[in-house]
Amino acid sequence: MSRILVTGGAGFLGSHLCERLVNDGYQVICMDNYITGNNRNIEHLKGNDKIEFVEHDVSKYISVDGEIDFILHFASPASPIDYLELPIQTLKVGSLGTHNSLGLAVAKKSGFLLASTSEVYGDPKIHPQPESYWGNVNPIGPRGVYDEAKRFAEAMTMAYHRVHGVDSRIVRIFNTYGPKMRVHDGRAIPEFISQALKGEPITVFGDGSQTRSFCYIDDLIEGIISLMNSGEHEPVNLGNPHEMTINQLAEKIVELTDSSSEIVFKPLPEDDPKVRQPDITKAKKILDWEPKVTLEEGLSKTIEYFRETLK
Ligand code: UDP
Repeated sequence: MSRILVTGGAGFLGSHLCERLVNDGYQVICMDNYITGNNRNIEHLKGNDKIEFVEHDVSKYISVDGEIDFILHFASPASPIDYLELPIQTLKVGSLGTHNSLGLAVAKKSGFLLASTSEVYGDPKIHPQPESYWGNVNPIGPRGVYDEAKRFAEAMTMAYHRVHGVDSRIVRIFNTYGPKMRVHDGRAIPEFISQALKGEPITVFGDGSQTRSFCYIDDLIEGIISLMNSGEHEPVNLGNPHEMTINQLAEKIVELTDSSSEIVFKPLPEDDPKVRQPDITKAKKILDWEPKVTLEEGLSKTIEYFRETLK
């Protein structure tokens, strides 16, 4: 296996994947339409002959010359503020974009990995969430555009696997953080770190008792590479099971940044899940994978990146 297409290659996860694959010796095609992806994430790879850059919206027909051995389909807005601003693009990239990417996988006889999400579980009634849980999603709420697009993408991937024999994988990614997230990303960790470093109030939504479990980017990338190299066709959760409240997260970021910011409370967005924690029994068993980076280590590296970016 040598040539890999990464859709959404300039995004947070996509750019880390491109970098890892180039370092591992693969030939990489980084495809992005830059609506939420950021040129800065991949600038340092320009000029490297292991990587080609293609500006394209994968919701439209995808044409790539030459062989492709694997497609990693990571194109999608992924922050709640993005899919509120880009609801139709979010639905299109999850549905049409996934269809086009799978069509390309059939044409090129390549492997295919779908970046799915813990959002397929919605506001979960089973905790922690195993892959066997079907979820609790509001299809017509503001988050439904992302959740349902990803659920459709999973259904489409399994159909292409069953009908066309595509050698497919599905990863359900839980909250992940690290360098290369955007300063104005809107998700809790980049938002809190930016606010703490600027001395602005930390905006906790609701009463902050809702929980999340945060995985550092390097751990996630390791898991994705293992899954790509496995033979598993059904969904696999990847995330860090270390669960905390959003209040605890805000306090930890204030402490690690040594900030004087106060914590303020804002209205809770509609359909915001109350709890979330991955059950990673399956990933441990079939991939021999589990996260290694502690929250303090991961946050410190991320804070360092934001300090540089905000300079
Ligand atoms: N959140 C918050 N303040 C912010 C951004 C997010 O309190 O400025 C909360 C959000 O309501 C959710 C949690 O933090 O309960 C994680 O939100 P994020 O947007 O990071 O991802 P989600 O897990 O909701 O997709």
